[in-house]
Amino acid sequence: TKTYTRDYWEGVLSSLKLEGRHFIDGAHRASSSGATFTRIRPMDGKPGAELARGNAADVDAAVAAARAAFKSGAWCRKEPLEKKRIMLKWAELIRAHGEELAMLETLDVGKPVMASLTVDVRLCADGIQFYGEMIDKMYDEIAPTGPNARALVRKVPLGVVGAITPWNYPMIIDAWKLGPAIAAGNSVVLKPAEQSSLSAIRLAELALEAGVPAGVFNVVTGYGEETGKPLALHMDVDMIAFTGSTEVGKLIMGYAAQSNVKRVALELGGKSPLVVFEDADLDAAASASAWGCFYNSGETCHASTRLIVQRSVQEKLIAKIEAVTRSDIALKHPLDPSAQIGALIEEEHMNKVLGMIAAGEKEGARRAFGAERVLSETGGYYVSPGVFVDMTNDMSLARQEIFGPVLAAIPFDTEEEALKIANDTIYGLAGAVFTKDMDRAHRFSESIHAGTVWINTYDMSNFATPFGGFKQSGFGRDRSVHAIDKYCDYKTIWQQFG
Ligand code: NAD
Repeated sequence: TKTYTRDYWEGVLSSLKLEGRHFIDGAHRASSSGATFTRIRPMDGKPGAELARGNAADVDAAVAAARAAFKSGAWCRKEPLEKKRIMLKWAELIRAHGEELAMLETLDVGKPVMASLTVDVRLCADGIQFYGEMIDKMYDEIAPTGPNARALVRKVPLGVVGAITPWNYPMIIDAWKLGPAIAAGNSVVLKPAEQSSLSAIRLAELALEAGVPAGVFNVVTGYGEETGKPLALHMDVDMIAFTGSTEVGKLIMGYAAQSNVKRVALELGGKSPLVVFEDADLDAAASASAWGCFYNSGETCHASTRLIVQRSVQEKLIAKIEAVTRSDIALKHPLDPSAQIGALIEEEHMNKVLGMIAAGEKEGARRAFGAERVLSETGGYYVSPGVFVDMTNDMSLARQEIFGPVLAAIPFDTEEEALKIANDTIYGLAGAVFTKDMDRAHRFSESIHAGTVWINTYDMSNFATPFGGFKQSGFGRDRSVHAIDKYCDYKTIWQQFG
């Protein structure tokens, strides 16, 4: 119930000590080359943290530390109850340092600090807690055999897991990998996106403080080609858990094949459909469309970027979406506590988004409202939420993942046509249908090829529900009890007795 003000957050910001070095074997380390790079703050375009620019030698050091920690058994052979206590303490420390973590995230990625605090920090801590709580509740199996044998089916950790994560929800996605990987007994080397390293480093410090042994959770900062690639090619890494673009996901599969056939789990891009029939509650559909597409400035892999709307209600629905967007989704400086959305990640990305909008208009996309650069006087990178109408699914704004606050509205006439458009994409991360006809809702939810389908809502989830994609949105699931399986192998131990 604390009241937050912009001045309060400015105070938090000025009190921060920015730590931008790798975190290897429980200690901060500069890059072996001494090289650094500067993160530019998306909120105002000013220089932010100075970070270690990682290279293959740094990755080697982190992997060696992770392997040594794994071999020592200091973590994986600890009593389950003790491991659980440590992970719950880690989750508590994340909550206790919530304001600081929220500010680090906002500095790096430009999202509103209140969103960082109430969504990102909360879900990060909840993720670590969820998997911590599983540790002393996981049983192995005994397989059916004849009478003179006992076959144990043990679930064992893989060893060293490499995690490569993106910048849109850094802390949340880190927790989705770290929670199950560490709970399963693995050691981790995390390579955060070069745009968002600060929260990862702080999470590693807090893990150590909670009692996670040195070397179990290491962070190597730096660029994808220079740091992520050597991690994915490493001969002593047993798995890569990746979230990012489909393009880089394909490279990661290649690196795994070229090196040691390491396991791979990929959470990739999306172009998710939200289908609205004329019988739907249009207020609910408008609110879901606006928040589903514009939350986090559209920098969300499962954003509802394609609004597939029955032609008879298109105009009415778009007017409602505009009203919700203007009244509820305040685009402001990220330190303003009333901001609902903030800046895009970088100048280059903003220019890419604006370029895609311009190219779309050249193809004939008709702008209903928004989708313009705003707040340029701040020096930051802001684009207003916007909608294009009367689109067809073959237009570039309807096909490409924009990763900005741009909604493409595509009208349809029949249910069959709506389904065809919804599934006409290389992606399959999420989708939604709005209708009061429950038969149709169920038919539709079964037929949309996506990892998650919502009925009469968008983006509802909790830790019990798996998250991930079909088709080129990847494979493997984050969240839920099932996520732990990815970080384990089955081992059979067959014993014969007389
Ligand atoms: P990206 O693929 O460019 O980068 C992701 C990570 O991969 C970063 O850490 C980056 O440094 C690293 N990387 C880049 N090139 C690499 C290489 N050659 N080898 C190894 N690592 C490399 O993605 P991004 O721009 O950071 O994030 C946006 C993308 O992520 C979008 O496509 C979005 O849809 C996707 N995403 C998916 C999910 C999901 O759960 N499905 C969640 C968030 C984001």
